Amino acid sequence: MNIHEYQAKQVLKGFGAPVAAGVAITSADEAEAAAKSLPGPLYVVKSQIHAGGRGKGKFKELPADAKGGVRLARSVEEAVAHAREMLGNTLVTAQTGPAGKQVNRLYIEDGADIARELYCSLLVDRATGRVSFVVSTEGGMDIEAVAHDTPEKIVTVAIDPEAGVTAADVAKINAALKLDGPAAQDGETLFPTLYRAFVEKDMSLLEVNPLIVMENGRLRVLDAKVSFDGNALFRHPDMLALRDETEEDPKEIEASKWDLAYVALDGDIGCMVNGAGLAMATMDIIKLYGKEPANFCDVGGGASKEKVAAAFKIITADPAVQGILVNIFGGIMRCDVIAEGVVAAVKEVGLQVPLVVRLEGTNVELGKKILNESGLAITAADDLDDAAQKIVAAVG
Ligand code: ADP
Ligand code: MG
Repeated sequence: MNIHEYQAKQVLKGFGAPVAAGVAITSADEAEAAAKSLPGPLYVVKSQIHAGGRGKGKFKELPADAKGGVRLARSVEEAVAHAREMLGNTLVTAQTGPAGKQVNRLYIEDGADIARELYCSLLVDRATGRVSFVVSTEGGMDIEAVAHDTPEKIVTVAIDPEAGVTAADVAKINAALKLDGPAAQDGETLFPTLYRAFVEKDMSLLEVNPLIVMENGRLRVLDAKVSFDGNALFRHPDMLALRDETEEDPKEIEASKWDLAYVALDGDIGCMVNGAGLAMATMDIIKLYGKEPANFCDVGGGASKEKVAAAFKIITADPAVQGILVNIFGGIMRCDVIAEGVVAAVKEVGLQVPLVVRLEGTNVELGKKILNESGLAITAADDLDDAAQKIVAAVG
């Protein structure tokens, strides 16, 4: 789960990290009061969408030379004018894809006098199995280019889970970021603080880009992106409350309600499977026979008829789906339950595209009988090869 920048800053502030004062608004009428509550004379109006690259982003509805999704303003009036121009429009950034994202919320923030823009993120490094700091002096809006062109300018510091962030770790990070004087002192508290926030809130990513050194030599968190480990959210109701469902794919929200693993892809065959291994095998064999999966929905081990029906509806709700392949190996999952779920869903939502079902395992005969006697246009398949060939042929 991702949260907005203004929420991430609120969370980090709670741990004691230095962030600027700011106010989130959802209508332009609130902009004046928001800006007036800040010290000024420099304000920043920031689009709140779940995607980065906002500064360099472009609004679809505005002329090509209009300013981007993060704008400086030198007066309250200018901040209000920016808010009016930005709210409700669609921001396209390197991370949103060409469709862009509608800006429904702005964060009006106190402007900072920036001396240097640095990069600092925390993530779980799978290679070392440790939470690691990834830092660079080359922060700001082009970190992807830095990673690509000058990877030596990016330094990783892995943290020993038992020791936490030690003085030696801080010294390494400070050196990598070329911090000295008050900034280095700030680093001594900031880096352990970021680590504590990351671990205590079960984050999977905490990215501060830029972390800035201000003209007065102090550090400040100027941008913050936080993702949480979905499997740990149950123990963080306060973080779960920050979820903004308008930023998420409605099909993924529906899937998460049913505890289904749903992943959208670019092809045209929808896949219902049970188990991650079977999902991958199913997608591989679809590709082998010349098509691409549109998505897959994993119903897991012991799904109910209702859950199977929900999965089927989520798959068919994607207009890109030209055909559906149900590929189930019934171990704990019973084939008759799958068949009942599929039949119930088809009866409810109808069937506009070809459907091939391959069942194997527990109660397979009963499952096949339910499908055959349903009177629905379902093509039965004997094995994985047969199933993939049949759905690819049916889609054409
Ligand atoms: P994004 O990464 O989505 O482009 P940022 O929050 O990093 O958005 O903002 C982009 C740039 O805007 C920053 O690199 C910084 O130069 C400038 N900026 C952002 N917030 C402020 C602020 N409060 N004061 C001054 N400049 C800012
Ligand atoms: Mg940024």
